[in-house]
Amino acid sequence: MPSAAWDVVVVGGGIQGAGVAYAAAAAGYSVLLLEKQGLAAGTSSKSSKLIHGGLRYLESGQFGLVHESLRERRIMLDIAPELVRLKPFFVPLYRNTRRHPWQLRVGLSLYALLGGFSASTRFGTVARKKWGQLDGLQTRNLRTVFRYHDAQTDDAALTRAVVRTAQSLGAEVAMPARFLGAQLRDSGAVVRYAHQDREHECEAGVLISAAGAWAAEVAAGISPALDIPALDLVQGTHVIVPGELDSGLYYVESPRDGRAVFVMPWHGQTLVGTTETRFRGNPDQVQPLTAEKHYLVSVLRHYFPRYATLGVRDLAGAFAGLRVLPAGRGHAFHRSRETLLSTDRVDRPRFLGVYGGKLTGWRATAEQVVRRIAGSLPEQRVRADTRQHRLVMTDD
Ligand SMILES: Cc1cc2nc3c(=O)[nH]c(=O)nc-3n(C[C@H](O)[C@H](O)[C@H](O)COP(=O)(O)OP(=O)(O)OC[C@H]3O[C@@H](n4cnc5c(N)ncnc54)[C@H](O)[C@@H]3O)c2cc1C
Repeated sequence: MPSAAWDVVVVGGGIQGAGVAYAAAAAGYSVLLLEKQGLAAGTSSKSSKLIHGGLRYLESGQFGLVHESLRERRIMLDIAPELVRLKPFFVPLYRNTRRHPWQLRVGLSLYALLGGFSASTRFGTVARKKWGQLDGLQTRNLRTVFRYHDAQTDDAALTRAVVRTAQSLGAEVAMPARFLGAQLRDSGAVVRYAHQDREHECEAGVLISAAGAWAAEVAAGISPALDIPALDLVQGTHVIVPGELDSGLYYVESPRDGRAVFVMPWHGQTLVGTTETRFRGNPDQVQPLTAEKHYLVSVLRHYFPRYATLGVRDLAGAFAGLRVLPAGRGHAFHRSRETLLSTDRVDRPRFLGVYGGKLTGWRATAEQVVRRIAGSLPEQRVRADTRQHRLVMTDD
């Protein structure tokens, strides 16, 4: 590394760490990003790959989150059009679906309102005579099919593009580099990490933890000890099914428990997800469970009769990621998806932790982080505006 003193040291090369490294570099700070395995090796390559407002969050009253996410979706379509694309989403409602057509109409109207009534928030229903064009969707007892738009991306490629953009603005990346610990001082921190078979030490004006499911492990290495929010880890699995859908993405309701499940085209195959299973193990060892695969296959078979004979052993693959949610008693499905930020002290923090949140909100979160740490760092000349600066594409 050319320098052993940085304004900002970021732990974690998932979308959140990538975003913070980028926003901090754009704000003019010197940045070092530490990633122990590979960019997007954690949850940021295991998501549903949607840049979306989160229609279902309206049901839990998370209007602020939906509003912010729809704004971020608009920005992402502008700054990364190669990676973030608007796609049609279909929501079939049957006689026994828990949500009624009027509820969805109200929800989609609110979605359009929160999205500023832009062209991309228009919605409608699919004419009955066109139901046959919906990838073999079950039409028995079908009442109506809503059609709206949201965006799909490649989460890992997006993370790499954000890091590449951070690097283009001067950020340095050490990888594989494992954060080992840090000592907070009056101002800043001394950070220790392992890289290229050696232990390194550097100074940071502010240390950022964006370690996702590894947040508690990273916090445990910091002294004096930190109070971080109580968190739960919830595993979400997707299965990959041979054969692709042509018409768009489907947003269906699990007949078993009413949870929302997405069925999506993905690199010539079909992705079905996700589950929510409380996770208590080592985040390095998260794996799809057999019961989760059966659950997802049964949802697919229920809605797409052409998969009636599909079994778990016919799957082309499966992967699991970990959601970081504020600890709580209720079902994970209903818990807040807002990002939590916590600092070691209110004024001039030396440490800031980023917990939870959405792929969609990475830029807004990163800008919030930069505002929170600005008082701890010398003023710099801004290099780029993340709302407008085009991301540097990595996968060409
Ligand atoms: C199943 C599922 C589906 C989802 N779908 C969507 C979706 O469609 N749209 C959406 O907006 N959001 C979605 N999300 C949420 C989104 O994926 C996550 O919020 C986001 O990916 C989390 O990113 P992160 O950077 O916080 O964590 P991660 O991507 O897990 O990154 C943390 C990184 O820290 C690194 N690390 C850990 N410890 C150390 C250490 N000691 N030293 C160095 N590096 C370390 C890890 O290797 C890892 O790369 C989904 C989440 C799940 C679980």
